[in-house]
Amino acid sequence: MSTPVQVLKKKFGYESFRFNQEEIIQTILQKRDAFVLMPTGGGKSLCYQIPALMFDGLTVVISPLIALMKDQVDALRLNGVNAAYMNSSLDNNQIYDLYEQLKRKEIKLLYISPERLLGNNQLFLVFLRTLNVSLFAIDEAHCISHWGHDFRPEYRLLSNIKKQFPEVPVIALTATADNLTRDDILDKLKLKNPSVFVSSFNRPNIHYRIEPKRKMYESILSYLQEHRGDSGIIYVLSRNSAEKMAEKLKADGFLAKPYHAGLHGTKRERHQEMFIKDQVKIIVATIAFGMGINKSNVRFVIHADLPKNIESYYQETGRAGRDGLKSEAILYYSGGDVMKLKRFAEVENNPEQTRIMLHKLSQMATLCEANACRRRAILNYFSEEAPEQCNNCDVCLSSLDRFDGTVIAQKALSAVARLESRYGLTYVVDFLRGSKSEKISDAHKELKTYGIGKDISKEEWFRYFKDLLSFNFLKQVGSEYPILALTEKSRDVLLGKEKVFLVKLATKKEKTTLSDKPYENELFNNLKIARTELAQKENVPAYLIFSDATLLELATYLPQTLEDVRKISGFGDIKLAKYGKVFLEVVTEYCKEKKLDSKINEKIPKREK
Ligand code: ADP
Ligand code: ZN
Repeated sequence: MSTPVQVLKKKFGYESFRFNQEEIIQTILQKRDAFVLMPTGGGKSLCYQIPALMFDGLTVVISPLIALMKDQVDALRLNGVNAAYMNSSLDNNQIYDLYEQLKRKEIKLLYISPERLLGNNQLFLVFLRTLNVSLFAIDEAHCISHWGHDFRPEYRLLSNIKKQFPEVPVIALTATADNLTRDDILDKLKLKNPSVFVSSFNRPNIHYRIEPKRKMYESILSYLQEHRGDSGIIYVLSRNSAEKMAEKLKADGFLAKPYHAGLHGTKRERHQEMFIKDQVKIIVATIAFGMGINKSNVRFVIHADLPKNIESYYQETGRAGRDGLKSEAILYYSGGDVMKLKRFAEVENNPEQTRIMLHKLSQMATLCEANACRRRAILNYFSEEAPEQCNNCDVCLSSLDRFDGTVIAQKALSAVARLESRYGLTYVVDFLRGSKSEKISDAHKELKTYGIGKDISKEEWFRYFKDLLSFNFLKQVGSEYPILALTEKSRDVLLGKEKVFLVKLATKKEKTTLSDKPYENELFNNLKIARTELAQKENVPAYLIFSDATLLELATYLPQTLEDVRKISGFGDIKLAKYGKVFLEVVTEYCKEKKLDSKINEKIPKREK
C-alpha cells in the first residue's frame, strides 16, 4: 500500500502537498467527514482524488457544473485514472455502458450532477447501495445554502446521502463562504462531527491594480499590446458593451470574442470552447461568464466596469492565475459606475435587501477609493487578518514613491476654497490647469488661482485629488453630481501646519515576468507550441496536458534526460511515459542550439507551505 505522497508523485507528478491537503486526506482516509474551504486554484480536487485512488471502492463526486465535470474527468484520464461522469449530456446507450462499468468496478471516480443522483425518486442512490461506495465528495458546497451567493434548490436533497450511507465519509468543498454560510452547509449536509479546514483567501500570485476610468480603452489596448499571447478576461456590465468592446479589439488586431447571456446558446458555448482551447485569447464577458471555467492559465482579468460587491470582485479576479503563476487583476474605477450600479441595486418591494446591496456596493467603492493595500482590504472583508502592506498591489508599490506634496495640496485646496466649494472634480482640475474651455466661467478666469496648476498634467491632478480625498483633506458631497468641499483638516494644510505626502503617478511599469527565476522565454514558447499540437491531437484543452507552470519549469531547469524530466512538477508516471519524450526533445534541441547546460540540480524539491 502506498502513502498519499507516493500517490501524489506517481499519479500526478507533484513533489509535495500544499496548505493542509495532507491533513485533509488523512482525515478522509480515517473515514471521517470533512469540510474544506480553500481559494480557487488552491488544490481542492486532490483532497478527494487521492483518497479515491487509495480506497477500494467507488468515489462519487457531486458537482453542479457539467462543463467542469468533463474537464476534471479528462484531466484524470490523462493521468491514467479511470474516471467517468454522468449528467444530462449522455444518451441512453452511454448511460447503459456506464452502469455496466460501475457494476464491474472499473470506475474509481464518478462525477455526477445532483439532479442525476437524487432525481427520479433517488433511484440512482438505490443503485449505489449495490456497489461499494468509499467516499462522497460534494463540490461547490455553498450551493446548498441560501445564504451563499449561488443557491441551488436541488442541492438541498444532498442531506439524504448521510441518511442512506451513514458509514461512508463525506467531504464538502467550496471556495467562498462567509461564516453564516459555513455553518449552514455543515448543518444542511448533516455531516458527522466534521473536521473543518479553512485556508487563507489570499491569492499571493495575483497583482491587484485599480485605476481611474479615463481613456480606458487606450489603456486596455496598450496593456494587451504588452501582453500579446496571454489569455485574459475583460468583464463589462452590459451585453452591448461586451459586443462593442470585442468588435473594437478585433478592429485593433486582437482576437476577442464576446460572451453574454444574450448570445445564442451554441454560439456562446463555441466562444467559451475557443477560449478554453486557446484559439481565442481574450473574452469580453458579462458576469455570466466564468462559473464553468477551470482554465488554469488565465493571466489577467480586467474589470472595465465596477463589480457590484467585493465577493464578485474576489471571485472574478480569482479566475486569474489558477496555475499559481503571476497574474494581474486590473479594475477601472469611476464614481459614475457607482451611480449606475446604485440603480441596479434596487430590489423591488424589498427595502431590507436593497439596503444590504447598497451597503455592499459602497464597500466596493471604498476599496477602490481608499489609499490602502487592496489585498488587505479584500482579506479583511472576509474577516481575515492581513499585514499592513502586501507589496503586490498598486497602492503598496506606489507608497514606495511618496513625496512632500504640501505645496501641490495647498494649490488644490485654495482652488476649492476660491470656487466656494461649489464645483466638481473635473471643473476644479480644469480651473487649476487654466483651461481655455468655455465651461470655465469668465469670472473664474479672472481669479488668481486660475491656472496655478498648469505644470501638472490632468492625470496627475486626478491622482493627487484621490489622495487628498482619501486622507480627508477634502471631501465630496452630493451623490449625483458630487462637488468638492473643504474639511476640518483643510485649514491646517492651507496654514502650513500640516504636511501632505502624495504618491507619484506610477511610472510605466516594466513588463512583469511569470517567474522570479530566469527562464528561456523562447523555449517556453516552443514548449507551448508542442503542447498545442498534442492537445489538438487528443482533443482536450492545452492546460489539461500540462499547466503553464510545468512548461515554465522545463524552460527554467532544462532537463536533458527522461530521469531529469521526472523531477519536473506535473510529470506523473503516465504523462512521463506518454509525453516525456516529446517535451524532452524540444528542450534538448533548444539547448544544443543555444549551447546551454541543464540546471536540474538547482531544482530543490521545496515543500510548499
Ligand atoms: P481548486 O479546485 O481548488 O480551484 P484545483 O484542484 O483545480 O484547484 O488545483 C489547481 C491547480 O493546482 C491544478 O493544476 C492542480 O493540479 C495543481 N495542484 C494541486 N495540488 C498541487 C500540489 N500539491 N502540487 C502542485 N500542484 C498542485
Ligand atoms: Zn498591497
